[in-house]
Amino acid sequence: MEQIEAVVIGAGVVGLAVGRALALSGREVLVLESENAIGTGTSSRNSEVIHAGIYYPAGSLKARLCVQGKGLLYDYCTERGVAHQRLGKLIVATSLAQIMDLDGVIAKAIANGVHDLQKLTREQARALEPALACEAALLSPSTGVIDSHAYMLSLQGDMENAGGLLALVSPVAQIGWNQGTPTHPIRVATQDGTELACRVLVNAAGLNAVGVARRMQGVPPSALAPLPQAFYAKGNYFTLAGKAPFSRLIYPVPEKAGLGVHLTLDLGGQAKFGPDVQWMDDPTDLQVDPRRGDAFYAEVRRYWPELPDGALQPGYSGMRPKISGPHEAAADFMVHGPAEHGVPGWVNLLGIESPGLTSSLAIAQHVLALLR
Ligand SMILES: Cc1cc2nc3c(=O)[nH]c(=O)nc-3n(C[C@H](O)[C@H](O)[C@H](O)COP(=O)(O)OP(=O)(O)OC[C@H]3O[C@@H](n4cnc5c(N)ncnc54)[C@H](O)[C@@H]3O)c2cc1C
Repeated sequence: MEQIEAVVIGAGVVGLAVGRALALSGREVLVLESENAIGTGTSSRNSEVIHAGIYYPAGSLKARLCVQGKGLLYDYCTERGVAHQRLGKLIVATSLAQIMDLDGVIAKAIANGVHDLQKLTREQARALEPALACEAALLSPSTGVIDSHAYMLSLQGDMENAGGLLALVSPVAQIGWNQGTPTHPIRVATQDGTELACRVLVNAAGLNAVGVARRMQGVPPSALAPLPQAFYAKGNYFTLAGKAPFSRLIYPVPEKAGLGVHLTLDLGGQAKFGPDVQWMDDPTDLQVDPRRGDAFYAEVRRYWPELPDGALQPGYSGMRPKISGPHEAAADFMVHGPAEHGVPGWVNLLGIESPGLTSSLAIAQHVLALLR
């Protein structure tokens, strides 16, 4: 059986960031990806927003890794010439009652170490974005957008330059722990029967991560007991035909399961609205039902009343890898490592939904620290 120091399962943005960090730390690393290209999962089906880190509960991994990851990501993009833009975003209160909610957003942001939010009156907000309807708004200047594909290619390049390897079309079928092999006790088998023995195994399999973790053989049942149930919530996008009258991202005051139907812009200035929240049993169902667009018109017109009839076209969707269900509070990222399961060298990254793209470099640092 081949021996290798570290294996990462999944070449999405998180697996690539972890693979890069492992390679740069001098480890021999192989990233196994089931598809025939990198980043074809959730990493290519998101809003491509560099989040400021405003909304997450203070002290949560989402809050800490997003704020840290945002700084790392802006620096990385600048150094590597990865296309990005610090466009800024407006969080808009569209009723008098919601103005109070904006104060809650500011308080949460400060608790998370985000001190740059600016409260705007209706007139100040409209001076920035004349098409906007709102009672008041918050400006988040550190929110931006990124070309996530260019970013992932750059991560892959860094990893390979540092000696790391990527194997595509290599779905991991089995994982196991063998105490009898002290130097390389973790066994990884791909679907074609290739077997590897490693010291470090990082499971960054996105929507499959909980299922992959449950496959670990040879560990006591207590090691698998903390694994959560997987849930899936589709986020559908509708694109705007024609030019958007906004130059910043526009978000309503956040809702329970998502950030509300917001407007994001890509680097070419093309606008899309979404994602909404559609709980799913089947994580592979990525069809956008055009009928869901009806609800978008009402949502969007709360902050952009001039949205013309017929202007929204079904776009694409992304699936959130949830580890809390529809009627539960949103779960934090779950890093299921040696402290939780007692198996040295094994780390599962679970529930890495938004802001996973923004947090990717910080998640990688966090994993490295756990493995030290
Ligand atoms: C609708 C939506 C909008 C979002 N918007 C944003 C945003 O604007 N900003 C932000 O910061 N975050 C956003 N996110 C979150 C972000 O997209 C994810 O956190 C991030 O892409 C997760 O990356 P990943 O590498 O963990 O997972 P993935 O990209 O899903 O990668 C997992 C990889 O593992 C592979 N794999 C699975 N099983 C196996 C196996 N058995 N063997 C080998 N390989 C396997 C898959 O093929 C896949 O390539 C959004 C998410 C969604 C759903």
